[in-house]
Amino acid sequence: MSKLAITKLYEQIYRRFDTLTPVPFDCGELCGKLCCQGDSESGMYLFPGEEQLFLNNPNFSVLPTDIVAGGRRVNLLVCDGPCTRTDRPLSCRIFPLVPMYRKGCTLEIIHDPRASICPLTHPEASGCIDPVFFREVEYAFRVLVKVPEVADFLEELSYILDDYQLL
Ligand code: SF4
Ligand code: SF4
Repeated sequence: MSKLAITKLYEQIYRRFDTLTPVPFDCGELCGKLCCQGDSESGMYLFPGEEQLFLNNPNFSVLPTDIVAGGRRVNLLVCDGPCTRTDRPLSCRIFPLVPMYRKGCTLEIIHDPRASICPLTHPEASGCIDPVFFREVEYAFRVLVKVPEVADFLEELSYILDDYQLL
């Protein structure tokens, strides 16, 4: 897929999460916005081609990682937070959910095993994620997984998530 086409696809998916949140209230009030308390060395993975949307934004840095998926280097986005909601990358828009994917198998949306800081993933909050939010995440990845470079990345990400699930 061309750079322009994938950028437009991410922008369309972003719009679906501009106002939609995992629960129908400001969950940042619960935890003091723990998921936005990273430092200059922590960040979130960018989906393939998503970096184009952040290269000229002074509030973000795009850093290469050691991870390679489908022959392409995976990038990390570090924010000089707090950000404007409409600027958020996809990883932040879907948090604390994440796709698990193996080529030829089913796509599954799960609680992100890296998100143990998030009270919405704790057992006592079971079932609290808004089904509408869940369905939107599922829809977004049913679309994105058809992009070969995204499918490669999702498979690699799923191996990383597997390691977290073993912890
Ligand atoms: S850590 Fe979880 S509960 Fe807290 S702001 Fe982030 S998504 Fe909401
Ligand atoms: S990009 Fe925005 S939503 Fe994501 S961690 Fe940084 S401040 Fe939070």
